[in-house]
Amino acid sequence: MSALRSSDPEVFGAIQKEIRRQNDGLELIASENFVSLSVMEAMGTPLTNKYAEGLPGKRYYGGCRFVDVAEELARERAKELFKCDWVNVQPHSGASANAAVYLALLKPGDTFLGLDLSHGGHLTHGSPVNFSGILYRAKYYGVEPDGPLAGRIDMDKVRDRARELNPRMISIGASAYSRDFDYAAFRSIADEVGAFLWMDMAHTAGLIAAGLLNDPLPHCHVVSTTTHKTLRGPRAGMILIGKDYENPFGKVAPKSGRVKMMSELFDSAVFPGTQGGPLMHVIAAKAVAFREALQPSFVDYSKQVIRNASAMAEKFMELGYNLASSGTDNHLALIDLRNKGITGKEAEAALQNAEITVNKNMVPFDDKSPFVTSGIRVGTPALTTRGFGEDEFRRVVVLMDDILSDVGNDDTLMRVRQEIGDLCKQFPLYDFAAD
Ligand SMILES: *Cc1c(COP(=O)(O)O)cnc(C)c1O
Repeated sequence: MSALRSSDPEVFGAIQKEIRRQNDGLELIASENFVSLSVMEAMGTPLTNKYAEGLPGKRYYGGCRFVDVAEELARERAKELFKCDWVNVQPHSGASANAAVYLALLKPGDTFLGLDLSHGGHLTHGSPVNFSGILYRAKYYGVEPDGPLAGRIDMDKVRDRARELNPRMISIGASAYSRDFDYAAFRSIADEVGAFLWMDMAHTAGLIAAGLLNDPLPHCHVVSTTTHKTLRGPRAGMILIGKDYENPFGKVAPKSGRVKMMSELFDSAVFPGTQGGPLMHVIAAKAVAFREALQPSFVDYSKQVIRNASAMAEKFMELGYNLASSGTDNHLALIDLRNKGITGKEAEAALQNAEITVNKNMVPFDDKSPFVTSGIRVGTPALTTRGFGEDEFRRVVVLMDDILSDVGNDDTLMRVRQEIGDLCKQFPLYDFAAD
């Protein structure tokens, strides 16, 4: 980065410190990962200069013949990866992809049914401060407080809620739910009440691509995702359709009176519906990441992500921590700190001092505010990319427990920081991060 280093030392300095922070600490935020150098290189190219509104071969700007190649590669690879029939790789982010889903399927004021945010749902699934909760009538299903399904979704209750509310759409997907979803059961409920079924697989896309979790595409009308979480691509989003891509469910084209296919609804909801020009440098980087995810090594990586999460969850429980739903099927665990006499906010800050990055998180039936919370969320995708296995993750849990059960003790803090420094040296992030 020699040009930047000399032209803008302030920004360069911030970037350099951030690279060092990533290299020298333990990244346990469940929604983060580390991309490859190839993905980063594709993002840092002159493709950022190009306007390419429209789709490959049908652009509103000249000079698109090479960015068309990049977008076509991204589309073909995404279709192969998720075995789906149609994809739009242009959404700038997960939230942008979701905005297009709402625009395509709902009218303002329509009712939809999604996972309660305090039970693991995402802001874009009906939070009162998000467009989804402002423009649409958001209703929720949740997880069970106790009994055999404690911390899990009871599909009979989802069916009851759907019958009671008659939603136009049912959404699935979460940011802090450690169990898998029964898509076939959701689809039968959606069909019964005449609702669209939408899965937001932002967190689990990589694990789904690797075939390690249930596949939503055969069951949902539409699936949206981010590309930067378990999928390990650039920061962006995408929309996919499985067998429903030609489903004429719903809307009629205003001019011709022709019934529009689902795919047309989503293409136009992305552009011109909710976005302007696509980020062609990021789309090129998506193509690179999808190719990486098609390699057998990505399946091995994803299996390790899940094994590491299970090892971490078991170690936490062994040390007396309560986990939402008492374990995990995926890449994350939600730790309920209520029996430990520490809030999520305090835990996040104490761990931060030790160079361990987690986020505070509401637990189901939390009595604290979202700014305080009773829990923390931990995930394994990022450190698994660095090469951590189950032994390292068990070690990390012990270090976290040392900190959490001894907040304010500087000797403990120094000892843990030393051990973390050693672990980070053993598993370097990028070659250039050490300079
Ligand atoms: C992360 C996430 C999003 C938002 O993605 P951004 O790229 O941050 O906009 C949407 N939905 C779910 C379920 C997520 O976990």
